[in-house]
Amino acid sequence: TFVLGIETSCDETAVAIVKNGTEIVSNVVASQIESHKRFGGVVPEIASRHHVEQMTIVLEEAIQESGLTWEDIDAIAVTEGPGLVGALLVGVNTAKALAFAKQKPLVGVHHIAGHIYANRLEQEFEFPLLALIVSGGHTELILMKEHGAYEVIGETRDDAAGEAYDKVARMLKLPYPGGPHIDRLAAEGKESIDFPRAWLEEGSYDFSFSGLKSAVINKIHNAKQRGETLKDEDIAASFQASVIEVLTEKTLRAAKEYNVNQVIVAGGVAANKGLRSELEDKFAQTDIPLLVPPLKLCTDNAAMIAAAGTINFEQGKRAGSDLNANASLLLK
Ligand code: ATP
Ligand code: MG
Ligand code: FE
Repeated sequence: TFVLGIETSCDETAVAIVKNGTEIVSNVVASQIESHKRFGGVVPEIASRHHVEQMTIVLEEAIQESGLTWEDIDAIAVTEGPGLVGALLVGVNTAKALAFAKQKPLVGVHHIAGHIYANRLEQEFEFPLLALIVSGGHTELILMKEHGAYEVIGETRDDAAGEAYDKVARMLKLPYPGGPHIDRLAAEGKESIDFPRAWLEEGSYDFSFSGLKSAVINKIHNAKQRGETLKDEDIAASFQASVIEVLTEKTLRAAKEYNVNQVIVAGGVAANKGLRSELEDKFAQTDIPLLVPPLKLCTDNAAMIAAAGTINFEQGKRAGSDLNANASLLLK
């Protein structure tokens, strides 16, 4: 099976073709980061306009790169949500037009299912599986007992991990997106500031990052008032240590409680070097295999949408010509 995937939920215009849900045939991503940088975040209106401008180019490139023709394509998969509605609509409408024009089945994909299935492009899944999702808009622990079935066992009650990174980065006047910059600074700094760890109630797999974010703001503010100088590297290292400790501990605990056969990490923050190495260290001490995707598959791309879409397609899930973008689509 060859599935063509389309992703436009945020600021990446992406089209990819995936074979059998496991093998990338082509994978093209046009990032808009440069256009949003000067605003310090993604501007929805600008994102939609860029998607419209880029879509045809990216689509043609993905087909060209694959060496396939439309006859070879079995289905078209598209991110239907969650994300920016205006951005999602560009992908959804492109997919609908193509499905109609080329007479191909259409499949809707949840963006986070895509992030999870990015891992299957590296290695086959073993169920039950625990997925730690850490992205710009989500922080979740998801239990999967089979393909295409998702049980959320924990989620953030406020900010997402990536959001916390981006907000702290903004306080340190680092460019958008701030995650990679904090990651880089953290490697050069010392964990000299004792920021809180949000463990929440005993046994809870939920997360919370807004308290940590406020603690960082207060620390910077108080230091300034007292005329003390804090090194950005140390703030970054101390902030990152708090995030990583909670993410790693909760993932470990859940993996053991649910007796899973595999743990996977997904989403943009999965690119974080500190998080990757801490998870690798901790899971190396267990007999549970950990799968961390290559950097290129952590952030938004369409190969992951095609991979997740392949499962929906194989399970007979089809979208009609009434498929719509859903900014707050739930993962089921
Ligand atoms: P969602 O997937 O929840 O809809 P999104 O698609 O915007 O959100 P992703 O593209 O998965 O999010 O990830 C982007 C996020 O990942 C940003 O918040 C960015 O700062 C963060 N990020 C990327 N690289 C790193 C890194 N090395 N360390 C920490 N955070 C990172
Ligand atoms: Mg993005
Ligand atoms: Fe994403």
